[in-house]
Amino acid sequence: MSTIFTKIIEGDIPAHKVVENDDHLAFLDINPSAEGHTLVVPKKEIDYIFDLSDELLTSTMLFAKKVAAGIDKALDPIRTGIIVEGMEVPHAHVHLIPIYKKGQPFSLGANVEVGEERMKELAKLISDEVQL
Ligand code: 5GP
Repeated sequence: MSTIFTKIIEGDIPAHKVVENDDHLAFLDINPSAEGHTLVVPKKEIDYIFDLSDELLTSTMLFAKKVAAGIDKALDPIRTGIIVEGMEVPHAHVHLIPIYKKGQPFSLGANVEVGEERMKELAKLISDEVQL
């Protein structure tokens, strides 16, 4: 059975997509730890990130770097942090979490409320600044 992220990639379930290329997609996390919390996934469905080929792991990280640059430009955090955990969804993904102030809780459990309209706006703000 396809993962929820494959369903998002294929457009079978909705998501606030940010940017994509042939092999990767970035979209907003439905349960963000901070405004602009973005997930980067390889389109190929592989559970554990360290099972990706060297080539796909490299391209995924380089794609994430470009998305993080877009987040930094669009939302002006101190910096964008990165978490790879993968305990919930068995489809390799990189969390990009903007850090707006020192001491901001930085974990996947620390959720903030972001309404649908703001999620839509955030996806566009970031998307407009990403240069692939
Ligand atoms: P992890 O697998 O690294 O623990 O985290 C999975 C992440 O995927 C969580 O932060 C969760 O909020 C996010 N997530 C789970 N289901 C969906 C979904 O259907 N849409 C989106 N946009 N994010 C999801």
